[in-house]
Amino acid sequence: GALIAQMMVDPVNLILRWYDELQVAQVSLARLVGVREIEPDAGDAEVRPDGRAVRADEVRFGYREGVDVLHRVSMDVPPGTRLALVGPSGAGKSTLGRLLAGIYAPRTGRVTLGAAELSRMPAERVREHVALVNQEHHVFVGSLRDNLLLARAGAEDAELWAALGAVDAEDWAQGLDDGLDTEVGSGGLSLTPAQAQQIALARLVLADPHTLVLDEATSLLDPRAARHLERSLARVLDGRTVVAIAHRLHTAHDADVIAVVENGRITELGSHTDLVAADGAYAALWRSWHG
Ligand code: ADP
Ligand code: MG
Repeated sequence: GALIAQMMVDPVNLILRWYDELQVAQVSLARLVGVREIEPDAGDAEVRPDGRAVRADEVRFGYREGVDVLHRVSMDVPPGTRLALVGPSGAGKSTLGRLLAGIYAPRTGRVTLGAAELSRMPAERVREHVALVNQEHHVFVGSLRDNLLLARAGAEDAELWAALGAVDAEDWAQGLDDGLDTEVGSGGLSLTPAQAQQIALARLVLADPHTLVLDEATSLLDPRAARHLERSLARVLDGRTVVAIAHRLHTAHDADVIAVVENGRITELGSHTDLVAADGAYAALWRSWHG
């Protein structure tokens, strides 16, 4: 009761405090709900996006002073585009994804939504428009309902059930003895990786952002669960702008635009056909995936 009331006022801060109390320090809430890790309270309430195009302009970023991970990266993601980021491990794909989702602010340069800079907007507002999806930390300690309300505080149970239905999680969720009140996370019901992913997708359905940054990880799922989840995911992605960090052949192949990231720079940009014809890094990657 009190928890939910507080979550409606300020879900992010409440959960941050809650985490502090539980001393689950290593859990990155920012990853869980897709908020900014740097200065979560910063942002000017007057700054609003006036368009849906995501653009990186000369973005420079590093985790440590003096060590740049991204070097003046520029890219355009027009609304409705499916863009795939490919490249070697450690190249900066996930980092670029986090910047495009407004999780981190660039050291120099800008990431914009329309004309508005993501790092100048309140994190809550960024989250209404752009979400980051990855395979980390999908479930936190609390009820299934709490886990879903993170995405849209104040949602009715019927909306939560609809979101679970939209990601094919209705069956197992309806089978829970305590339904939405079931405690999940450490100490509670332990969910399978696939169920945890479905909760993350259900959150997306509730939050309904127009742009998604999808950081695929090498899958924790068995092939059957993976196929099942992929169908739900395809439905959730439908109609949205997607930046997918691709570890799999078809994610890149099916994209409108592929950006190759190497050493913190975009070194190739184009369609699958363009890049195969260019016979550079993507073409080599494609051949290795094929073989
Ligand atoms: P990719 O997704 O292409 O594998 P990342 O963006 O994860 O690359 O990593 C780019 C570089 O940034 C790597 O050198 C990595 O070690 C470093 N890095 C990534 N995440 C963090 C972090 N949270 N803290 C410090 N360094 C990081
Ligand atoms: Mg990565």
